[in-house]
Amino acid sequence: MQTINTDLVIFGGGIAGLWLLNRVRQQGYDAILLETNTLGGGQSVCSQGIIHGGTKYALNGALTQASNSIADMPARWRECLAGTGELDLSSARVLSDAHYMWSAGSLGSKMTTFFASKALKGRVDQIAPEQRPVVFQHPTFRGQLYKLNEIVLDVPSVISALASPYADYIRKVESTKIQLDSQSGQVSGVTLGNLKINAQRYITTAGEGSEQLLQELQIKKLQMQRRPLHMVMVRHRSVLPTFAHCISSGTKPVVTITTHPTRNGEQVWYLGGDLAETGVQRTTEQQIAEAQKILGKLLPWIELKEARWASFHINRAEPKQSSLTRPDAAFAQSFGNTIISWPTKLALAPDLSDQILDLLQQQNITPEYRSDIATLNQLPEAKVAEPVWETMFC
Ligand code: FAD
Repeated sequence: MQTINTDLVIFGGGIAGLWLLNRVRQQGYDAILLETNTLGGGQSVCSQGIIHGGTKYALNGALTQASNSIADMPARWRECLAGTGELDLSSARVLSDAHYMWSAGSLGSKMTTFFASKALKGRVDQIAPEQRPVVFQHPTFRGQLYKLNEIVLDVPSVISALASPYADYIRKVESTKIQLDSQSGQVSGVTLGNLKINAQRYITTAGEGSEQLLQELQIKKLQMQRRPLHMVMVRHRSVLPTFAHCISSGTKPVVTITTHPTRNGEQVWYLGGDLAETGVQRTTEQQIAEAQKILGKLLPWIELKEARWASFHINRAEPKQSSLTRPDAAFAQSFGNTIISWPTKLALAPDLSDQILDLLQQQNITPEYRSDIATLNQLPEAKVAEPVWETMFC
C-alpha cells in the first residue's frame, strides 16, 4: 500500500470543488481533488451560467438574505474574468455581458417602484428601445425590459480554466473504489485500491454525491435535498442570442432563456425558470409542448429556423430546508475533520470558498504537507464534461 500525506482532500470537481482547489492551493495548502466522473458533469455544466446578483430573488419586493449574500458575486466574477481577481478566468468565455428581465405585459406599480428603488441601484437599468437585444426590438414587443448587472458564462470554459492550473492534483477515481476510513466521526484516510491518502481535512463538494458521503460518514444532523428540474432545449439556426428572465405577477420567472453556441455553428436556447420547476411530472412531449406554448405566447414574432427540441431531468442538490425552499447562501459545515458543503448556486462558488477558508483558519489548519505527484499520478486524470447541448442532439 502506498501512502500520500496531504493537507486537504476535496471530493467532487464541479464549480465548487475546482474553485476551492484553486483558492486553497494559492494559500499554500497541499490539496488533492478526487472526481468520480467528469469535471463539471454534475450540475455545473448543465447550469444556465448566469452569475446572479440577486435581482431574481428580490422579486417579491424585499431584498432577502439570498439577494444580499449574492450581490457581490458579479463584481468578483468580473474581476476574475478580467484576470485581475482572486482567480484567473481570463480564458473563460463570456456569453453575454448582461442578463435581461422582461415583463410580458405592464408590470404592477409596486414592481415598477421596486425596480426604480435605491436598493437595486447599480444592479438594474431600464434601457432605451434602440439598445434592446434584437429579439426585443420587434415593433409588436409591448413589455418592459430591464438590464441586470449579471453576466452569463460558458460554464465548460470556466471549468477548463479552473482545472488547468492544478491538473496534476485533480484525479479520477471510481466511486466504488473510494473507501472512507472513519471512526467516531473522524476520518483517518481515504483508501483507493492500493493507495491511501491521509489529510488534515476532508471536504465534500460532491453535489448530489454528498448524500452518499453523509451516509458513509454517518452524519445524521445534516441532510441533503434535491430540487428537481425538467429543462428544455431548442437547437436552431437563427442568430438570436437571448439572455432573459420573463416575469409576470409571480415571484419566479415564468421562463429563463440563455443561449449557447454549438460547435457546428448553431445556437441552443436553453429554457429554465418556472417552466422547469413546474414541469417535473410532464413527459418530454408534454414539456416541449408547454415550452412551445409559452414561447408562442411571449415571443409570438419569433420563428426559430430548423428548430429541434429536447428536454431532460436534473436535480439541484442543496442542504435540506423546510418545505423545499431555496437555501439563502452557500453552505459549509464542519463535522469532526470533514467539511460538508454545497454552493447552492454556481454564482456563489467564491462565497463558498471564503466560508471553507474561514473554517480552516478557525480550526488552525495550516499548510504542512507536499504530496508526491508521481504517486498521485498513478490515478488517471479527470476530463472536463461535454455540455448537454452538444450531447443531446447527436
Ligand atoms: P456539481 O456541479 O454537481 O459537481 C459535483 C461533482 O462531484 C460532480 O462532478 C460529481 O461527478 C462529483 N462527485 C459525486 N460524488 C462524488 C464522490 N463520492 N467523490 C468524488 N466526486 C464525486 N446556478 C447559478 O448560479 N446560475 C445559473 O444559471 C444556474 N443554473 C442552473 C441550471 C440547472 C439546470 C441546474 C441543475 C443548476 C443551476 N444552477 C445555477 C445551480 C448550479 O449549477 C449549482 O449550484 C452548482 O453547479 C453546484 O456545483 P457543485 O460543484 O456543488 O456540484
